[in-house]
Amino acid sequence: MHCLEQTLAADLNQRRSDHLYRKRNQHAGPQTPELKLNGQTLLAFCSNDYLGLANHPQLVNAAKKACGEYGLGSGASHLVVGHTDIHHELEHALAQVTQRPRALLFSSGYMANLGVINGLLDRRDAIYQDRLNHASLLDGGLLSAAKFQRYRHNDLDDLERQLNKTTARRHLVATDAVFSMDGDTAPLKSLSQLCNIQQSWLMIDDAHGFGVLGKQGGGSALAQGLTTQDCPIYMATLGKALGSYGAFVAGSDALIESLIQFSRTYIYTTAIPPSIAAASLAGLKLLKDEAWRQQHLTELITLFKQQANALKLPLMPSDTAIQPIMVGSSAVALQLSEALKEMGLLVTAIRPPTVPKGTARLRITLSAAHTQSHIQKLLQALTQLQQQGLLTLVEGE
Ligand SMILES: *Cc1c(COP(=O)(O)O)cnc(C)c1O
Repeated sequence: MHCLEQTLAADLNQRRSDHLYRKRNQHAGPQTPELKLNGQTLLAFCSNDYLGLANHPQLVNAAKKACGEYGLGSGASHLVVGHTDIHHELEHALAQVTQRPRALLFSSGYMANLGVINGLLDRRDAIYQDRLNHASLLDGGLLSAAKFQRYRHNDLDDLERQLNKTTARRHLVATDAVFSMDGDTAPLKSLSQLCNIQQSWLMIDDAHGFGVLGKQGGGSALAQGLTTQDCPIYMATLGKALGSYGAFVAGSDALIESLIQFSRTYIYTTAIPPSIAAASLAGLKLLKDEAWRQQHLTELITLFKQQANALKLPLMPSDTAIQPIMVGSSAVALQLSEALKEMGLLVTAIRPPTVPKGTARLRITLSAAHTQSHIQKLLQALTQLQQQGLLTLVEGE
């Protein structure tokens, strides 16, 4: 047997030579468009802080206040003694804003997705997923005993063919509502109609829609007019547009009670700190009180798309805050990200296995914390890369 160091070094070297090696961008200070990295200040277009709430004084103060009253750690799981008044109040508020009967807090979105799929399905069942779903949904499918099938991206004919053949007891269809690396949206209305005909359960992961889309940021289901009946399982996270941390599932009383009984990632983990729940509550209040944030973000998206299209930049079909530029080759995507860094901009190169082979891209994300002049700076830098002939689709891994 080879020693650990030698074996791992071989894998790491392979990853380096494939241009897939990951490095962390260490920065000091809060999540804002201007990040301090190694003494350099960079204008960042990569966070999921879509409304600019991650450093909002009302969130920070709510957390501080809750710390004063509740201390820091929750000290236990929800089913033992970790479930405080603040967690409970947050669940009520989440049910209200998503217009669902009930909501249940999870400690992260990753855990919520694993927990829903594994809590509701067993070996008699089947799960159908869009092939571009987030890793946490896909992993939930892989870990479950249910039969796991993927359908082509947003291809309802492909899904229907697969559902027609199913003999499973329960069939769950799960999709990102806004695709995390592409920024496009799922056709939720048609999906819910198909699921209704097939008697399948529809689950949507709205990590990138909640807070941003729909009435008062209530999310993609509201934006596309889906009731609890149309979409019985609604999941979203609190660490993106809401500026906080954690996640939740919203739906009927039977769904929530079942998750409390059977969802292992709900049962066997420590509840998030009460201060974090308090910050999420403050974030929810701001969805209403500072509705200009959604408005401003929408304006920035329109501005960016108009100008990028005028420059003939290779945008992807997205109307959301996620505006990726398709590159193709991982090596070139890295090179572009490095070039942008030298111009004072931080845009991450997203590469396989996060996205399919040959579809590396620059994932640009916009936030209400950006200004119009930030967008102009980004466009100027991209124009410069384009003039150097670097922004064209390049084949490769
Ligand atoms: C970020 C994300 C998750 C995971 O949420 P966390 O709270 O960060 O664990 C799940 N699904 C999608 C689509 C995401 O983008």
